[in-house]
Amino acid sequence: AGAKVVVVGGGYGGATAAKYIRMWSEGRIEVTLVEPNDSFVSCPLSNLVLGGSKQMADITTPYDNLTRRHGVKIARDRATAIDADKRQVRLAGGQTLAYDRLVLSPGVDFMWDALPGMKKAGAQDRVLHAWKAGPQTLALRKQLEAMPDGGVYAISIPLAPYRCPPGPYERACQVAHYFSQAKPKSKVLILDGNDDVTSKGPLFKKAWADRYKGIIEYRPKHSTVDVDTATNTLKFDFNDDVKAQVLNVIPPQRAGDIAHNAGLTTANRRWCEVDWLTMESTAAKNIHILGDALQIAPQMPKSGHMANQHGKVAAAAIVALLSGRAPNALPIYNNTCYSFVSDTDVVHVASVHRYDAEKKTMLTVPGSGGVSAAASELEGRYGMAWARNIWADTLA
Ligand code: FAD
Repeated sequence: AGAKVVVVGGGYGGATAAKYIRMWSEGRIEVTLVEPNDSFVSCPLSNLVLGGSKQMADITTPYDNLTRRHGVKIARDRATAIDADKRQVRLAGGQTLAYDRLVLSPGVDFMWDALPGMKKAGAQDRVLHAWKAGPQTLALRKQLEAMPDGGVYAISIPLAPYRCPPGPYERACQVAHYFSQAKPKSKVLILDGNDDVTSKGPLFKKAWADRYKGIIEYRPKHSTVDVDTATNTLKFDFNDDVKAQVLNVIPPQRAGDIAHNAGLTTANRRWCEVDWLTMESTAAKNIHILGDALQIAPQMPKSGHMANQHGKVAAAAIVALLSGRAPNALPIYNNTCYSFVSDTDVVHVASVHRYDAEKKTMLTVPGSGGVSAAASELEGRYGMAWARNIWADTLA
């Protein structure tokens, strides 16, 4: 029988790996993608659903093409355990899948222990993160729509590293954009656990000062230590409590449960470490890990763009290894992250990362990358094109 690969997680990393293993092995390797959701819902552009200029349908893509065009088998289920010695994955539905190589791209899960109040019954239905695009995105939009004019929306940002460094600041812009049109007396309060805006700082601050003056207030060094969901209050170690009509708490994160529970989070019990030439785990043979679950290389963001490229490096290595060849990729990644400061105007940050054989990690290429000079509609068109392209590359 042919070689078998199981991919856990059909997000930016996993779907890309599944498709490219099928393509580059010319169909010789059997690929089963394990994913509980019936469609791919993109976190990139999901802040525009909160801002009101996009709908859920605009950020949702079915998995049909992976099956029809590329012959990826889909197990619509959740992986619950890995037996690395037997090379098997167990699914919630009771099935066991055998693999020659396993790919894990489960994204992040939340460290709720850091916010005890969020573990009370019903708390997580009331105070939303919307940091995994899907039902929470829509539910948070509904909370914003229901909020009376003159209310406060407060967003709590965890200490870095977390999924998508500029994402919370883009979200603040999107909510402020909505308020400026529909509820002009309302406020956006950003409570940031970090010392300063960690990505595109000057560009975001300019947007807040010029476009959203009097709407957005930024408070750095506000690390949320608890949430009282009965009174919609955020608690801090050193600062006064903050009460708001709509709370949006982005909790601290670590690699997804399936990787964590398999003992693969070797960096601080939070993130997974890999050999960057193959994306194979340093803790378990035949298991390749991608995307947000990884301990990042210096200055490498946790982004969909990165996860997509991890997927290709893993696919090339797996196809080589399962064909008895040595993997020979010397990865170079680029990353461009577009942030919508309004419904049309966008700023970007770009970087290039190359494998360094001596340090055995990915390093940014000196002199590469940069940020926008200013927000523009032209970049807005580039940002939309980026999304359409990466969805096609990952899923079509
Ligand atoms: P994901 O894409 O989250 O995929 C993980 C998948 O695994 C999910 O489908 C999940 O259902 C599945 N899964 C988890 N556990 C299991 C299990 N046990 N069994 C089976 N399946 C499982 N990135 C950009 O590049 N550009 C942007 O503009 C951008 N904007 C963002 C805006 C927001 C608001 C947010 C929250 C993120 C944004 N990102 C952006 C970041 C991007 O979404 C992530 O970096 C990317 O999704 C990571 O890919 P991944 O494959 O690691 O995880």
